[in-house]
This record gives sequence, structure tokens and C-alpha cells, in this order.
Amino acid sequence: MSAALTPSQAPAKRLAPPEPAALETREVDHLVSKLLSEIKVPFGSLGTRVLHQLADLKKILSADYMHVPGLPQKSLLRELAQVVEKDIKQHIPTYGSLADLGSPQLLGHLNKLFGPRELELRAEPYRTGAGLSLRGFYCRADVGDKHKFVIFVNTAHHPGAVGATLGHELGHFIYGSLVGEKAAHTAFMEGAFANHLLEEDELFADSLVALAAYSPESIKKIGSITHLKPGSSDDLFNSIKFAYDRIGKDYDLDLSKGKMAAAWRVRYLTSMAHFFKLRCALYKSVGV
Ligand SMILES: [Zn+2]
Repeated sequence: MSAALTPSQAPAKRLAPPEPAALETREVDHLVSKLLSEIKVPFGSLGTRVLHQLADLKKILSADYMHVPGLPQKSLLRELAQVVEKDIKQHIPTYGSLADLGSPQLLGHLNKLFGPRELELRAEPYRTGAGLSLRGFYCRADVGDKHKFVIFVNTAHHPGAVGATLGHELGHFIYGSLVGEKAAHTAFMEGAFANHLLEEDELFADSLVALAAYSPESIKKIGSITHLKPGSSDDLFNSIKFAYDRIGKDYDLDLSKGKMAAAWRVRYLTSMAHFFKLRCALYKSVGV
């Protein structure tokens, strides 16, 4: 009998640990099904729009936020954290509220700090055509000798999401002033967050939202998880749940209620997980 075929050796090969990638996939799947049951989206009967959103959610959950290509340089993040703490939070009616980011007092202050482009905000409900899939956009326009930076936010969304979009577009305004304007004059925010992980200006803009939404103390308390390691899906679930409960309470947002389409509930959940993981990465990398 050949030694290679003895029964004692064969099972050893079958019991070899799965590839890390397979473990990670299983961990992400486990986390996704727990999250979906939390927001009462039935896993068994999902349409194509929801499946599309789930792909984005999975990318967000499995990404290691400390090592995503678009994470801005530490010095730039420190500068942004200063702006959020000293300029943004001090010039809105409620300290730390995303919903107040459109206050005229704040926009006037940012205008003075980061001009010469004049900041103009247009906030309107937009449901026709692309409708809700558009959360907002900015465009730069030169009209005569006036240089404008126009932000449009779609207020047909939930107020919490509107606040996040507004913060994101303000982030582009500040990035343009600190780093320089990119060639594109218009940029749309449509909700696929995984794409943001590749672009420094997008993650900078999202960092403004993350910094405005969570204080360093709250992240210290919740625990900063930036990477889903095998066996850690329950920890990440608990952190996201904590963040969701807090944001939900502040903005009266209940994703488990059926009146919102399932695809949007998944999208908002993805958005929350993204901002939370990014916030943790900012805390870990620069301590802000
Ligand atoms: Zn953007």
C-alpha cells in the first residue's frame, strides 16, 4: 500500500483551514444577514435593485479602512478636524448636528474662510427623472467676474441623509480650497460608497461628515473597528448597531419600518456603516 493513500493522511487535507478570502466572505455574509434582519429586510425575497445595493454594502463592510487607497494624508485630516471643531461646530445652532450644516451663519463663515468662490446652497426636493437616486451635487461656475461654488441637495431624502449629503459637498468646497480644484466642474453624489474608497477628494468630503457626526469620545466608547477580521463580525455588528441607534434617535430614522423601499433602507444602512468605519479610521490614524 502506498503511504500517500493511507486514510490517516487523507482527512488532513480535507480539514485544512479555508483560504482567508473564503473566511472573510463568510464573515461578511453573516454580518449582512444580521444587519438585514435588524432592519427587517427579508433576505429571501430581494429584487435586483436591493441586490445591487447589497454588493455596495458588502464592499463597505469588508474593506480595511486603514488601508483604502483614497484615505487622505494625515496632515490634511488633522487640518479638516480643526475646521470641523473650530469653524463648523461653532457656527451651527446645535453642536454636532448634521441637519444644521445648511445654516446661513455657517455658510457665510466658510465663505469668508475658504473663498474667493462664493458658496451658494440650493436645497430642493427632486423626485422626477433620476429622482431619489441623486442625493446631491456641486458645480463650479464662473458668471462674469463672480466665481461660484453651487451645492445642490435633494431634500426628498430623509433629513439625516440630506445632512450627510450637505456635509459631503461642503467637504468638496473645502478640499478645493486646501488642496486645489480638480478638473471636473460637477460631481454627483448618487450613493455607491465603495467608489469613494478609491478617491482622495471623495473620502476627504466623507471625512467631514464622519467628523461632524461623531466626537472622538463617542468613537472611543463604541470602539473603533476599521477591518472585519475572521470572528469579529459580531463586534462590528454591535458597533454599527450602536451607531445606528444613536443616529436613528437623533434623526428620527427607523429603517425597520416598511414605508421606505427596501433598496433605500439598505442604501442608508450602507451609508451609516461607511461613515462609521471611516470615522474609526480617522480616530485610529490621527487620533481626532
Ligand atoms: Zn463627492
